[in-house]
Order: sequence, then C-alpha cells, then structure tokens
Amino acid sequence: MIPAAFDYHKASSVAEAVGLLEEHGMDAKILAGGHSLIPAMKLRLNQPGILIDISGISELSGIKDDGRSLVIGANTTHGAIAKSAEVASSAPMLAATAGVIGDVQIRNKGTIGGSIAHADPAADWPAALIACNASIEVMGGSGSRTVAATDFFVGIYETALEDGEVIVAIHVPKVPGTAGSAYEKFFQPASRFAIVGCAAVLEMKDNFCTSARVAFTGVADTAFLDEKVSAALENQTLDDATIKAASEMAASDADILGDHFASEEYRQHLAKVFAERAIRAAIANA
Ligand SMILES: Cc1cc2nc3c(=O)[nH]c(=O)nc-3n(C[C@H](O)[C@H](O)[C@H](O)COP(=O)(O)OP(=O)(O)OC[C@H]3O[C@@H](n4cnc5c(N)ncnc54)[C@H](O)[C@@H]3O)c2cc1C
Repeated sequence: MIPAAFDYHKASSVAEAVGLLEEHGMDAKILAGGHSLIPAMKLRLNQPGILIDISGISELSGIKDDGRSLVIGANTTHGAIAKSAEVASSAPMLAATAGVIGDVQIRNKGTIGGSIAHADPAADWPAALIACNASIEVMGGSGSRTVAATDFFVGIYETALEDGEVIVAIHVPKVPGTAGSAYEKFFQPASRFAIVGCAAVLEMKDNFCTSARVAFTGVADTAFLDEKVSAALENQTLDDATIKAASEMAASDADILGDHFASEEYRQHLAKVFAERAIRAAIANA
C-alpha cells in the first residue's frame, strides 16, 4: 500500500502543466483530487516518475455561464457542482448526478476533470455528460481542441485525450425551459459507483417529446448514448406504452459487462428498469 517513489511539481498554470507533460512524457501524470490516481499508485497499478499537481491552478476551477453553455472548470469538485446555483438552474441533472457520487469526502476532493480523464466504466459523469450533449475542452502542446462527450470515452480507462493534453473545462449546453432531465443509478453498495446508471434529457411540448438523449454508464466498457431508446422517444407522445416500449430496448446493442457485482443478464435487466425510471423522472421534471 506504499506507492513507488516519485517527484512532485505543483503547476501554477495550464501552460506550465502542459510544458511539464511535454518535458517528462509518459513518466509524468497529472494529479487533481487524487481519489483515483493515489489508490492506483498505492496498489502500484500506476507508477509515474513525476506528479504534476494541477489542484492550485485557478483558471481550472469554477463554473461560468457564457450565455449558451455552462463552462465547468476541470478542477471543479463534485461537491461544488452539487451545490452550484448556476448548475441547479441551467443543467439540474448535473447537480443531481454530482450529489450521488461516492460519499462526502469523495465529493469534496474528486474533480469532474479527474473523473472523466480516469474514465472508469462505472463512473457517473460520462453518462450525464453524453446525455447533456456536453463537450470537453482540452489543451496540449499544439493548442486547444474540443471533443464531444459522445466521442471522448473510448474504452475501459481510455479516452480520446492525446499524450500531453490536459482537460481544461466541460461545456454543457443550457437546456431549454421545456426540457426535463434525470439521472438514476443502481449503486454498488460499498463504493457507490454505478453498477448501472441512466441519464435522460428530454425536450418536451406538453406530453410530446421533440428531442431525447438517453445514455448509460456501468453497462459496457464505456458510457454510451443509447440511440435506439432515444429514437423510440423522439417525436412521440410519451404515454405509458411508449415509455415501456422504449425502456425495453435499453442497451440492446451494447456489449454488456458481467462481473461479480452483476451478471450480464442482470445488468441488461437493470438497464431496462433504470431507463424507465430516468425517463419517467425526466418527464416529471420537465
Ligand atoms: C471510495 C471511492 C468511491 C467513489 N465513488 C464514486 C462514485 O460513486 N461515482 C463516481 O463517478 N466516481 C466515484 N469515485 C471516483 C471519484 O469520483 C474520483 O474523484 C474521480 O474518479 C477522479 O477525480 P480526481 O480529481 O480525484 O482525479 P485524480 O485521482 O487526481 O486523477 C485521476 C486521473 O485523471 C488524470 N487527470 C486528472 N485531472 C486531469 C485533467 N484536468 N486533465 C487530464 N488528466 C487529468 C490523472 O492523471 C489520473 O490519471 C470514487 C472514488 C473512491 C476512492
């Protein structure tokens, strides 16, 4: 439980962190809240030669409203997002998601940037960000670029981040007043990671759904937008039969994980149950 020896550098700007990543290459690792990296180092699953601590970089913290989107700095903690008035009014599902991550210690130290960079297949943020149609702003040696959340998560602990890139912010389009959204998850009882988590964002006109994005985490190697469920809700009046039929399609195209927490069959069943719960909660919130 003792990590291998490493050097430590506290960066004071994104440019400095990017420069240090360029200088040290694969030997360097970014440190944010440390709630995924430090346990991995203690188990010696990860043995970086140098840690670049970004926790003091002020430009990476906080939540801004740029008119069309909320811009959430990578270092913003889950706890700060759960308590943010801006998030509660413009993207309420994100506040609800933040509030069900881990426990109070995890929420007060863990960051949204660290969570999505780590890309645990059972993490909560990936499904919520995909359903919100968010995009991820990253900075590397050759400048900055933006990656859609739908393209960001590419495998177990694998993202579209390239070597030397730092996540700077997450851009979340503000949902129109007629939209309803919800995140529902089946907790792993010890860690509270999602065995199955479902996020739904529905744009509604009365009981008619004009646009739907339903995404899952915990079900497969990586979070994904469930196009079949989303299409079954879109341009439909959301009566009981439509909601049930759409939920029955949950994860039908996914390569479903099976492990000692939940078999493949059980996860498939949970995906249907939690799709229905998220859709009904999103309608109630519209
Ligand atoms: C007991 C326990 C329970 C938990 N329960 C849950 C849960 O219910 N749901 C859930 O979703 N998560 C859960 N987590 C994970 C938690 O949310 C972590 O905080 C999160 O995964 C990592 O964030 P961090 O800021 O601690 O990142 P760190 O541990 O500092 O870093 C994680 C990885 O991301 C990289 N990184 C960090 N920031 C950046 C950046 N800006 N740019 C590029 N790379 C970066 C690091 O190099 C490292 O590889 C739990 C963790 C623990 C220990």
